[in-house]
Amino acid sequence: MKILVADDSKTNLAILINSLTQLGHEVITANNGIEAIKQFKKQRPDLVILDVVMEEMDGFECARRIREFNTDDWIPIIFLSGAVDDENISRGINAGGDDYLTKPFSDVTLAAKIKAMQRISDMRQQLCATTEKLSVLSSIDPVTSIYNRMEFDKKIIEKTDYTDQHKQLLALLFIDIDHFKRINDNLGHHVGDFILREVASRIASCIRVDDILARLGGDEFAIILPNIENPEKAGLVAQKIIETLKPPYKISGHEIFISCSIGIACLPSPETDFNTLMQKADIAMYHAKELGRNNYQFYTKELNEKHTQRMTLENALKEATEKQELFISYQPVFNLQSRKITGVESLLRWKHPEIGLVLPDTFIPLAEESGLITAIGEKLLEQVCLQGAQWQASGQHNFKLMANLSSRQLLQKNLPLILHRILEKTKLQPQMLELEITESTLMAHVIHSEKILMEIAKLGITISIDNFGTGYSSLGYLKNLPVRSLKIDKTFIRDLGVNQNANIIVKALIHLGLNLNLNVIAEGIENEEQYHFLIENGCPEGQGFYLSKPISAEAFATLLGQQEPATTA
Ligand code: C2E
Ligand code: CA
Repeated sequence: MKILVADDSKTNLAILINSLTQLGHEVITANNGIEAIKQFKKQRPDLVILDVVMEEMDGFECARRIREFNTDDWIPIIFLSGAVDDENISRGINAGGDDYLTKPFSDVTLAAKIKAMQRISDMRQQLCATTEKLSVLSSIDPVTSIYNRMEFDKKIIEKTDYTDQHKQLLALLFIDIDHFKRINDNLGHHVGDFILREVASRIASCIRVDDILARLGGDEFAIILPNIENPEKAGLVAQKIIETLKPPYKISGHEIFISCSIGIACLPSPETDFNTLMQKADIAMYHAKELGRNNYQFYTKELNEKHTQRMTLENALKEATEKQELFISYQPVFNLQSRKITGVESLLRWKHPEIGLVLPDTFIPLAEESGLITAIGEKLLEQVCLQGAQWQASGQHNFKLMANLSSRQLLQKNLPLILHRILEKTKLQPQMLELEITESTLMAHVIHSEKILMEIAKLGITISIDNFGTGYSSLGYLKNLPVRSLKIDKTFIRDLGVNQNANIIVKALIHLGLNLNLNVIAEGIENEEQYHFLIENGCPEGQGFYLSKPISAEAFATLLGQQEPATTA
C-alpha cells in the first residue's frame, strides 16, 4: 500500500517509516499538515496516517481538508494520538477520520489497523465496480443490447431540454415492426428475439453515433435525432430504415420478411414537452399503420384530432356492452330463383346515446385493434345462437344462421372450445350455424386458419368465405378448406352493368364457386338489373337491400312465417 504519514516529530516519523517499510508498504512523509495536503494531492496515497497534534494545522483540520478536496473517492485516514478521550474520538470522526492509533503502539497493532482499512477499501472498490456494472445493465435492453425504455426516458428529457436551450431541431421516431406478433406466435420466441436483435443492428446502421436508439418494449423501437437541419432529414432516415429492414432475415431454414411503420414528431413545436412529443410520435406511427403499414408519417394537428375522436369512441365502446347499446340486426339471404329464405346474416349495431347509430365499419376495426372484439364477439355469438335456438324451437330451422368472425377471433386458440360451449349452452343445432370469415383474414393466417377451420367443421358448424374476390385466394388452398359458401363481395355486384369488367369477374366467381361444389351468395344486391344478372348467370343465393335490408329479429321471424318452409342449400 502507498501510505502517507504526517507527523511533526522527526523521531516518530522515523519509527513509523521503519515499521511501515518492514511491513512492505511504500511510505510518503510530511512534517506538517500543509505539507500532508500537498503530498496527498500529488501522490494519491491508499491510506493516510495523521498525527493529531501538529503545529500550524492539526490532524483533524488536515483530514477535513483532504476529505473536502477528495469527494469522489474514499481513502482511509487513521489518527495518531497520545491520549484518546471521547471528545477526541468524536472530533476525529467528524473531521473525516476512520480510526485511531494510541501512542505508543506495537507493530502488530499498526499492521492490524492497516489491514482492516485495506479490507474496507477493497470491499468498497468491489461495490463501486458492481454498482457501475449494474447501472450499465439497468440501462440496456438484454435482448438487443441497445438502450432500454428507462434509459430512453432519461435521454429524451435530457435531449429535449438541450434542444430547447440551444434552439436546435430534434426529431423523435417511433418504429413498430408490422405483424411482429405473428412471427412470435408462429415461429417461437427465439426467432422473435433473433429478429429483434437483427432489426436493432440494422436500424443502428442507419443512424449517426450521436443519435439515440432504444427498444421501448415488445417490437417498438425509438430514435432521437438531436440537432437535425430540417424535418425532411428525419423523413430520409425513416425511409432508409424502411429500406434497410426489407431484405429477408434468415434463421433455421426460414426466410422471414418484415416491414415497419414509423411515426415522426419534431421539436420545437408549440406546447410540446418530451411527454407530448412521445404521444405525437405514437399517433403518427398509428397513422402509418392505418395507411397500410410499411411507411412513415409525420405528426400533424389533424391527426391529433382524429386520434382524440378515436380514443373517445374506443372508451365509449368499452362501456357500450355493459350499457346494452349494442344490438343485432338480421339480414335475410334468399334463394334467388324461389326468393325463399335460405339464411340470415347477423350484423352488429351500436346505438350511441349522443352520436346515434354507429356503423360496424367504424367500430369493428376499433374493437379489433383494442382487443375488445373477442369479448364483444363472444357475447354477440351467444346472443345470435340463443336467437337461432328460439327460431329453431318454434319449428323454423331450415335456414343458416350466419355470423361474422373477425380475424382476432379466428386467432383465438380456444375458439373451438368457445363455440362448443355456446352451442351447448344455447342448444342450437350446430348445422344451423355458419361462420363468415373474410378472404383476406383467411389468407393472412393461412397456416393457422386451415387447422382451426377443420376443428370448427368437426363441431358441425359450416364456414363461408366473406368478401370473396378481394383477397387473392389460391384455388388449391380453397379446395382444402372445409368451406360451404363463397360470398361475392358487394363491390363487384355494385359495378354490374356499370363496369364491363365487373360482369366478367362476377360470372367467373360464380362459376368458380359452383365448380368447386360450393354454395355462392351474392352480397349487396341493390336493384333488379343486378338481381337478374345474377339469376341469369346461375348464382344460387343472394342478399341485399333490393331483397331485404337488415331488420330486427321480430321482423325476420314474421318474414319467415310468411313463407313456406324453405330448404337449406
Ligand atoms: P359484411 O360482412 O360484408 O356485411 C355486409 C354489409 O353489407 C352489412 O353492412 C350490410 O348492412 C351491408 N349491405 C347489405 N346489403 C347491402 C346492399 O344492398 N347495399 C349496400 N351498400 N350494403 C349492403 P354493415 O352491417 O354496415 O357491416 C359492415 C361490416 O362490418 C360487415 O361487412 C362485417 O364485415 C362487419 N360486421 C358487421 N357485424 C359484425 C359482427 O357481428 N362481427 C364482426 N366481426 N364483423 C361484423
Ligand atoms: Ca358478412
